[in-house]
Amino acid sequence: MSARPLASVSVDLDNLWAYLKTHGDPGWRDRPSFLPSAVPRLLEILGEQQLTTTVFVVGADVVREDGAKAVAEIAAAGHEVGNHSFGHEPWLHRYSRERLEDELSRTEDAIAAAGAPRPSGFRGPGYSVTRDLVELLAERGYAYDASTLPTWIGPLARAYHNRTANTSEAGLGELFGGVSRVLAPVHAYRWQTCAGSALVELPVTTMPLLRTPIHGSYLLQLHEISPRLARAYFRTALRLCLARGVSPSLLLHPTDVLGAADAPGMEFFPGMTAPGARKVAWLGWVLSALREHFDVVGTGEYVRRTAVRRTRPVTRLDVGR
Ligand SMILES: [Zn+2]
Repeated sequence: MSARPLASVSVDLDNLWAYLKTHGDPGWRDRPSFLPSAVPRLLEILGEQQLTTTVFVVGADVVREDGAKAVAEIAAAGHEVGNHSFGHEPWLHRYSRERLEDELSRTEDAIAAAGAPRPSGFRGPGYSVTRDLVELLAERGYAYDASTLPTWIGPLARAYHNRTANTSEAGLGELFGGVSRVLAPVHAYRWQTCAGSALVELPVTTMPLLRTPIHGSYLLQLHEISPRLARAYFRTALRLCLARGVSPSLLLHPTDVLGAADAPGMEFFPGMTAPGARKVAWLGWVLSALREHFDVVGTGEYVRRTAVRRTRPVTRLDVGR
């Protein structure tokens, strides 16, 4: 058996319409999709790196032909398929318990109908968790949630979004996670819900100590400023993870491999001016650097292989704000 530490990689399969919707572009209603170009490209690069990962999918896509095909291809390539909500609304934390349950169950059914195993992992679209969500996931037999992003960049991203987006949807005050996320744990832990609950929380990893993001889109933005800076930043993150015993959980998005021509209407999004080929090459470097130091698996496999002993009481959650 390998003595190398474990790391995990996951992809949030956010579609073009979801970005347009969050941005307040009415064109989202036609549900434009870039999955037919994004999914083969992602699977190719993961295959080249010999990685099996987790792909969190949006139910509203999976009930359509291109989304169902994507799920079948992802599962056939050996990746875990996780639940990324049905409607991909970043204000999910405002939903009633009933509506939340509906989001979970409709996506579970769609994933199963597309031919993949029922999901055992969930990631919310807005980096936020609530007591209702944690309890529902535990009740429905999920092994883990992966919705938290312990960073102080979240509140900054929210301020930026509120300034630039046209959307008038309620609940944007908590978009991208609340200020309390800043102090959320970086390590995996178990939620203390009802007796015997074993639901694990696996945070998206941020730079140990600094708590700045190290997910794919952030690394890409650095790379567009300076490839040298981006490489040094990611190497520093990996060294700090090793030194502090943090297992990196790296988050990727389809936009990490797509150029502007693949995503019409997304010119507002950071990093969309970079050509797709340059992004693919950069992501290859990132994944290779991760594999130099870690055994890399999907988030579900990580949770299965790891004894998570830290716990956190559910009463410390932001409830229904
Ligand atoms: Zn998402």
